[in-house]
Order: sequence, then structure tokens, then C-alpha cells
Amino acid sequence: MRAVTVTPGMPDSLRLVDDWPEPAPEEGAILVEALAIGICGTDLEIVAGEYGEAPPGQERLVLGHEALGRVLEDPTGTLHPGDLVAGVVRRPDPVPCPNCAVDEWDMCRNGQYTEHGIKGLPGYARDRWRIQPKFAVGLDPALAPVGMLLEPTSVVAKAWDHIERIGARAEWKPQTALVTGAGPIGLLAALLATQRGLAVHVLDRNTTGPKPDLVRALGATYHTVPVAELDFEPDVVVECTGAPPVLLDAMRKAGPIGIVCLTGVSSGGRSIDFDAGALNRDLVLENNVVFGSVNANRRHWDMAAEALARADRSWLESLITRRLPVSAYAEAYTHTGGDIKTVLDFTI
Ligand SMILES: [Zn+2]
Repeated sequence: MRAVTVTPGMPDSLRLVDDWPEPAPEEGAILVEALAIGICGTDLEIVAGEYGEAPPGQERLVLGHEALGRVLEDPTGTLHPGDLVAGVVRRPDPVPCPNCAVDEWDMCRNGQYTEHGIKGLPGYARDRWRIQPKFAVGLDPALAPVGMLLEPTSVVAKAWDHIERIGARAEWKPQTALVTGAGPIGLLAALLATQRGLAVHVLDRNTTGPKPDLVRALGATYHTVPVAELDFEPDVVVECTGAPPVLLDAMRKAGPIGIVCLTGVSSGGRSIDFDAGALNRDLVLENNVVFGSVNANRRHWDMAAEALARADRSWLESLITRRLPVSAYAEAYTHTGGDIKTVLDFTI
């Protein structure tokens, strides 16, 4: 069967292998045929040789962590043949740490977790894969064209879950949310904000392309000015750019008892001048919280499946700006400017 693979750490090692072995029964009782794989920045970093780890004793890593498949067989009866399914990305560490011990693998404390298609486990970019029921998330059948968005949605479902848990420290009635960055994560974070009834503002530097219309279609407001120039103080900020000037301004912009959730990963190594004392003063005097959020546990995947099922299908479909057959894998894993989400389609 086909599998899209790399040799981690080695640039230009992206290969479509035609005779990859069938998934081993040890991978899980549920056998799935691949429908599609979403591609994100992490995949591009792995392809560039900057990130990623093959399973122990193997040279190649199968890519793909934004999975969508259809169940072929499930002897456990958890799912049924024909059901749409996505696979959770992370697996708990073997020690396990206190968080992994209670299935909060997204909060792993020792870093020994593994991740399909990223770190030590084969990904889902292959014709068939297997999965254990605990890590298989069933999807509404109507989500067939867009179900590979479940993984990025799980990341923002976790972010919102933690925002709300932090908000519960006091009486908290948020009204406005600011999302910085209108990539897939930012747009999905905005979707979940609108589902919570908030007045949503999305800030991005793009003035053309599909982003402004996608934001407006949510009933949200699109901004292209610097964060510091916005004329309101958001109750919640979901920062999705990882760009230091944006995230520093975002931390300072939040209103009283504001919550700033950082989801973007910065590359680091660049210093900029900023007034740490002023930031400290803002945070202390307004009881603000700034926190980081990554990954998602099973509860968040289920929340994400619900959020996608409630969302407007055509809006979700318009997030997918490139859909390519597996044979065009090299093109699919090449970054293009105006793209929102590229999908590798195993059925065309
Ligand atoms: Zn752990």
C-alpha cells in the first residue's frame, strides 16, 4: 500500500512508498481506510528535516497527523464499517507522568509522549491504518469532505476549554474575543468563539485572499491594523501567530481579568525591545492571565467533533484551499503563499 514518508532530520527525503507494509494488528483493532490527510506547518518542518522522529529501530517516518478515514472493520463494536473516523495524534508516555496516567496526555510533564506522524509513531498518510478504540474519534457522516479539520479543531477546543477553566476562577462574563492570525488555527479558534456567543475580532496582516471573507462569514470583524491600534480591550485573546511583536501587544491589549492564550510556536533566536515592567504592571493590576496551550486530549477531540458538526459545512469546506491526489504529494508538501489548508486526498 502507499505511504508518504520522510527520513527525519534529512531534508529532501520526502518519498511516496508504494509497497509500505499493511498496518500491524498491534496498532489497534480498528482497521481504517484513509480518505484524506490535512497538512500543516509541523509537517513542513518535518519535511524540511527540522523536526520529527521515526519509530524506534526504523529509518523512515510515515507522515500525517490530521487524519480522516473510514472504518473497514471494528471487531470491538465501538465503531461500525463505513463510519468516519479520525485518529488522536498523541499517546501517553510509558512512565507515565501524573497527567498521562489520567489520560491528560496533552499536559504530559516528562516529554516522553509519542505522536503519530511526528514523534516515534507512524502517521496516517497511508492507504490503511489501525487504531485502538480509545484513540478513534467517530465523526458525523456529513463531515466527510472536511473531517480532517478535526485535529486542528481539537487544538483550539483545548485552548477554549482551558480559557474557560481559568475564567472560572472568578465571576467571568466575557463578551469580546480577539484572535490574532487567520490561518487554520486562528479561523477555527474564531469559529469556536462565535459558537460561544462572543463578539469576535480576527487580526491578520493579509488584506487580500480568502481570509477577510471567511472571517466576515462567521459574523466576526476583520482587522489588519497592529494590535496596539485596536480600539477595544478584548476579554479573551487567542494568539495564533507566534510573532513576537504581535503576541507582546496582545498580552498588553487584554482588558481587566483578561485571558491570553498563546498557541503559536515562535522560532526564537530574535530579540526585540519591549517594556517588561509595563507588561508586568498591566498583568498584575488587571488580574490578567497569559498561558500557553498545545495539543489535545480525548475530551477535546470529542468537543471538536461536536463543534465541527454544528458549524456551517460550506464555511468549513472553504478552509480547504488545495486538495491534491496522493500522486501530487511533493506539491502538497510545498508551502504556497495564499493557502489556508492543503489536503492530500486518498480517494482521487
Ligand atoms: Zn506524560
